[in-house]
Amino acid sequence: MTIGIVGAGQLGQMLALAGYPLGLDFLFLDRSSATPAGRVAPILVGEFDNQALLAELARRSDVISFDWENIALEALAGAARGTRIAPPLKALAAAQDRLVEKKTFQRLAIPTTRFAPVHSRSALVRAVRRIGLPGVLKTRRFGYDGRGQHVLRSALDIDRAWDALGSAPLLYEEFVPFEYEVSIIGVRARSGEIASYALSRNYHAGGILHLTLAPWPAPRLARAAVNSLTRVLEAFSYVGVLTLEFFVHRGRLVANEMAPRVHNSGHWTIEGAVTSQFENHLRAITGMPLGHTAARGHSAMINLIGSMPAAERFLAEPGLHWHDYGKEPRHGRKLGHCTLVETSARRRSARARALLARLYPQLPFQP
Ligand code: AMP
Repeated sequence: MTIGIVGAGQLGQMLALAGYPLGLDFLFLDRSSATPAGRVAPILVGEFDNQALLAELARRSDVISFDWENIALEALAGAARGTRIAPPLKALAAAQDRLVEKKTFQRLAIPTTRFAPVHSRSALVRAVRRIGLPGVLKTRRFGYDGRGQHVLRSALDIDRAWDALGSAPLLYEEFVPFEYEVSIIGVRARSGEIASYALSRNYHAGGILHLTLAPWPAPRLARAAVNSLTRVLEAFSYVGVLTLEFFVHRGRLVANEMAPRVHNSGHWTIEGAVTSQFENHLRAITGMPLGHTAARGHSAMINLIGSMPAAERFLAEPGLHWHDYGKEPRHGRKLGHCTLVETSARRRSARARALLARLYPQLPFQP
């Protein structure tokens, strides 16, 4: 069976690596063959909305999936007519537009930030008056790793934020002075079976995920997260892996984002769970039974960002798993990650601290 994947980044690469033991074949579509998935599978090279290439991908694949969100929906919908596509495009549409995403959370009674759409400077002034300060002005589409966002702390920031972002459709939302950030990853099979992974705690710096600890021992939050996740999966009759990201504020979850795909905060599942998020995504979209999602121990996943450290300096660390995506170094770019699985949460945090001190001596947080 061949899986066609639009986007050939590291998520695609890890999907292919998880799929080969299941006997699956892969075909990717991306703008360049010099991509992480291009190192491990054949690739059609062209624009993501190239109808001829999408049609070829559909013809040569039993099911189509995608490894990132910012793909033109209409183009994918065309390809979907020729073959099966998963996750459902409705979920992709919701994740592509922060306004639709927030309304989805609201409709499903999932607590989220207060928000207002902004399409003019005067609408921004009204939104700031209604929702208050501080707040965050975000582009509705194409934002990631904190790009396309401006924090407004006083009314004096309105013009600056409007000048920076005003050319695109926007959303203004209240600033949440959260204690920390968590995410949950779940999977729904074609049969309707649902499974979820342990809650992860995520540490960002400069808007980019640097560290994930999982399982994060907060049983009440984990139950609430599973509850929200299940509602989203069922509302979309979802098939595949889905991620929900939350702020933890005053001990409660506030939903921030959903991603209709495997997620960076789930990379720990490769070594730290019985079945990885990548394998479970493939099982779901090909109609196979899901694999067990239980954690095997206490994992820490550290992203390798900007430049790849010399592997030989780290591989002597007992039980450290190294992932080099084979990408060109660039400031702020995720080039790889490493995961360690420990026997207790305390040992995990201690080792994560020591590793972070070697990799990123300047980080603004400590696990
Ligand atoms: P996002 O692109 O929405 O995931 O935002 C990127 C990061 O910006 C988040 O991980 C938070 O650290 C921060 N952020 C986004 N929205 C808010 C908010 N409403 N309040 C506080 N921090 C936020």
